[in-house]
Amino acid sequence: MSATTPGLVCAHHHLYSALARGMPPPPKTPANFQEILEQIWWRLDAALDLEMIRWSAMLGALEALEAGTTAIVDHHESPNAIEGSLSIIAEACAEVGVRVLPAYGITDRHGAEGARRGLEENERFIKEGNQALVGIHAAFTCTDESLEAAAALADQLGVGVHIHVAEGIGDVDAPQRLDGLTRDNWLLSHCVHLRTDHTLRGTILHNPRSNLNNAVGYANPARFSNPVALGTDGIGANMIESFRLAYVLQRSVDVTCGPDTAWSWLESGWDLMPEARTDQVTWSYDPMDPWHLAFTPGVRPLEVKVDGEVVFADGRPTRVDATEVRAKAAEQAARLHARL
Ligand SMILES: [Zn+2]
Repeated sequence: MSATTPGLVCAHHHLYSALARGMPPPPKTPANFQEILEQIWWRLDAALDLEMIRWSAMLGALEALEAGTTAIVDHHESPNAIEGSLSIIAEACAEVGVRVLPAYGITDRHGAEGARRGLEENERFIKEGNQALVGIHAAFTCTDESLEAAAALADQLGVGVHIHVAEGIGDVDAPQRLDGLTRDNWLLSHCVHLRTDHTLRGTILHNPRSNLNNAVGYANPARFSNPVALGTDGIGANMIESFRLAYVLQRSVDVTCGPDTAWSWLESGWDLMPEARTDQVTWSYDPMDPWHLAFTPGVRPLEVKVDGEVVFADGRPTRVDATEVRAKAAEQAARLHARL
C-alpha cells in the first residue's frame, strides 16, 4: 500500500548545523538558552568555512530527501565565511535535488561591520536573481539600525524577512523592537515567549523538537492568529516526525485537540514554498492522513519526484552518492570539531 503527497516543506532549518552532531562538549555545561547559544552555536558558526558549509548543506539536503522533504527554508550564519555562503548552500541543495529558500541571518554580535557584510550577502544573492529572504538572527543580537536596514532592504527587494523571535526570555522585547517593521511575508521563528495579543505580522514557525531540546518552553502556536508553519530548527528535516511531535506537544496542554491543527501547520509550508506542491512523494504507508500518521511510526518515502525528475528511489538519492556525501560531510565535521 502506498500513497502520494506533494513534497514536504521544512519551514525553518539551519543546514549548517548538520555537522554539529558529535561535536566536542563545551568547556562548561550550558545551564540556559543564552549559554547554549554562547557555548555551542556561536562557537560552531564562527568556525565554519565555505567547504564545511557546502558539505553540511549536502548532508542536510540528502537527509531532507530521505524524509520526503523537497523544500527547505534555511536560515544561515557563518560570521567568518559570509561572502558567497548563500550561493554555496543553493548549489549544494540543487545538486542533491532539493529546493531551498535561504537567508543570511545578520547580527551585530561581531560589530556593525559584520551586520553590514551579512546584509550585503543577502542583497547580492537576491539581486543575482535567486529566490531568498533577507535574514536577521534575532532582535536581541541586533541594533535598531540593523533591524531597520534589513527591513528596508527586504521591502526594496520585494521579499520577506526570516528572523528568530522570542525563542528565549532574553528576546522578550522583540515585539517592541520590531514594531512597525514586520510584514505578512515575514517568517517569525519560535515565538515561544511572544504574547498572544502581539501585533507582529508574518508566519510563525514552530519548532517543537528544538524548543524541547533547549528547554525554552512551549510556544503553543494554536493561540496565535498568524499563520503557523512547522520547522526543525536544524535538527534534520523529517516533517512527518515534526508533525507527530507538534501534535502530542499540543495535546499535552489541550487533551481535546486532534492532529488536524498540527497537520495544518505542516500544510502551511506550501504557502511559503508553493513549488513543492508540484513535487510528488510516494510513501510506504496509505493513507497519508493526520489521524493515521500521528500514531504510525516509521513512515518513509519510496520515491521522490522534484520538478518531474525522480531524485530519490529504492532508498537512495539518484543524483548524488549518499555514501560519498556522508563520508565528505564526516571529513568536514572532523575539521570543524578540531577548531572548537
Ligand atoms: Zn533557528
